[in-house]
Amino acid sequence: VIGRVQFLWESTYGQRYMHLYWFSRGCETVLGESADPQELFLVDQCENTLLNGIISKVTVQYKPVSPDWTIENGKDLDAHDSDSDRTFFYSKKYDELHGRFEDIPPEPTNPHPNLEYRYCCSCLYSCKKLEFESPSVSEPLEEKTDDGKELYGLLKWRGEEYRKGTCVYLEPGTFKFPKGKKSKTASKKDEDSVNSNSTDETLYPEKYRKNIVKGRASNETTPDPFCIGLISAISSDRDGLVEAEDVKIEVYKFY
Ligand SMILES: [Zn+2]
Repeated sequence: VIGRVQFLWESTYGQRYMHLYWFSRGCETVLGESADPQELFLVDQCENTLLNGIISKVTVQYKPVSPDWTIENGKDLDAHDSDSDRTFFYSKKYDELHGRFEDIPPEPTNPHPNLEYRYCCSCLYSCKKLEFESPSVSEPLEEKTDDGKELYGLLKWRGEEYRKGTCVYLEPGTFKFPKGKKSKTASKKDEDSVNSNSTDETLYPEKYRKNIVKGRASNETTPDPFCIGLISAISSDRDGLVEAEDVKIEVYKFY
């Protein structure tokens, strides 16, 4: 395994540690055997490990893809400096979850310049990702819910803001409607028109649709549509950054 040392330190018991930002070899990606044995990919994973885990030092060069890559007809990267088994290069990041290669974004600036000695952009990415995935509630209101939970004016989640009056898609089946009561005569009439083969097609030109249960016009495999709601209240057990399960929204249902 190959890693880039981000920072080093010594514990109070004299043990020496390093923080490593991991690379993935091409053969560990979806490229498999077709990968260039010298090409590595950054993966957003880092780890603390003991310094004596080091086998040897290797050279890993960053070779960014030219911004005019498409205009230059997909020009190859510059030739590798050496074929030695201790020289590698990288130009992309690898997203293991989606099997996707991505351009490497510029390193984010350190939000804590006084902690420069322990900066790791992978840690920063993970932090940002966690922040993005965690909902946060703010602007507490004076009222409370019937079961005593605090009500809030603003919910931020995954880069979106939600307030009272915001409309949202909800998972299909989140809420149901009471079954509508059809008048007996109307449903009887419907059945009759479906069952009878001698329907007047001039009077009911769309009748043929009702007969098809399976086949092309069937909706059996169509996923249910999302439920749509209009937020009427946002409540949570705590304020600030919270777990998604802690936040509850109350919605007006749309039909
Ligand atoms: Zn890190």
